[in-house]
Amino acid sequence: MSTRQENLRRVSADAQPINLTTLLTDVVRKTREDNAALSLFGKTTKLGEEHGELCEAVLVATGEIVKPNKVTSVMEETADVILMAVDICASVYPTLNNQELVEELTRMIEHKIVKWERLMELDGEQ
Ligand SMILES: [Mg+2]
Repeated sequence: MSTRQENLRRVSADAQPINLTTLLTDVVRKTREDNAALSLFGKTTKLGEEHGELCEAVLVATGEIVKPNKVTSVMEETADVILMAVDICASVYPTLNNQELVEELTRMIEHKIVKWERLMELDGEQ
């Protein structure tokens, strides 16, 4: 069984309702406890790599490119991008404790969702 399959099996076995705050708090705590973490430059570069993998997964999923030997998943790469972005945020705001960071990030996501919904409404009117 591959690491990916094992991770998916573990997640399925532990399946419980999860909310955004719980998930973000867990990611922030783990990244801040990681003694072998990448530097901020490394994390930012890694985010670029993950973004590239997401782009490639979208190209494969939509048939824009064909990569027969490449197992790629838009869902998986989306998760990688989100995790790296949260990791970067946790590194940039060291003066905020985990709870403060998650509260501010959650508020910002809510604010951005409202803004994003307004843009979608405007797009729908055209
Ligand atoms: Mg990836």
